[in-house]
Order: sequence, then structure tokens, then C-alpha cells
Amino acid sequence: MKRRKRRRRRLKPKTGYGKLGFASYADYLRSDLWRQKRAEFIASDWVKKDLMGKPLCDICGDWRLIEVHHLRYDHLGDEPFWDLRALCKVCHHHEHSLMA
Ligand SMILES: [Zn+2]
Ligand SMILES: [Zn+2]
Repeated sequence: MKRRKRRRRRLKPKTGYGKLGFASYADYLRSDLWRQKRAEFIASDWVKKDLMGKPLCDICGDWRLIEVHHLRYDHLGDEPFWDLRALCKVCHHHEHSLMA
């Protein structure tokens, strides 16, 4: 039995944007593909909303300047919603400072 199909995803994060024909992650974020995905995500149950239906920050509950954060980058272009998180600008910035 020669079956060595262990994928080492952890060690080598796969970036999807190259596959999709984007030169960089920033390019991907400017694409219609991402715009659409982002809108779908915001509209989904994965994002908390206030009574008016405004998306809220997943961390602090603020409703201003909501951005969508990628928890992982290996599914770019085909992100499952659980890879994404709606955050306000402040929390988003904070998350990235923790990741660095
Ligand atoms: Zn926040
Ligand atoms: Zn982010």
C-alpha cells in the first residue's frame, strides 16, 4: 500500500489569486468576483445585522465601515463563508496587526 496523500496545506498556504488570473491579492480585492462574493457574504446569515439590516462588526458590534476579512487565504475566488468575517475598520486593522 503506497498511499501518501497527506496534503501539507498548513505549511504552504495556497494562494488562489494566481490561479484565477489576478496578479496580486489586492487585484483580487478590486475584482467583480470579490465584490460579488463580498455582497453575498454580507447578505448571508454569517454576518450579524442590526434591526435595520445593517451588517455589524463581528467583534465589537459597530456598524460603521464594515469590511470583510479573510481568515484564510487558500480559498480565494471560492471562499466558503466560514473563511470570512465581517469586521469594522478598527477591528480589521487590529486583526491584521495580530496576524503579522
Ligand atoms: Zn469592530
Ligand atoms: Zn483582513
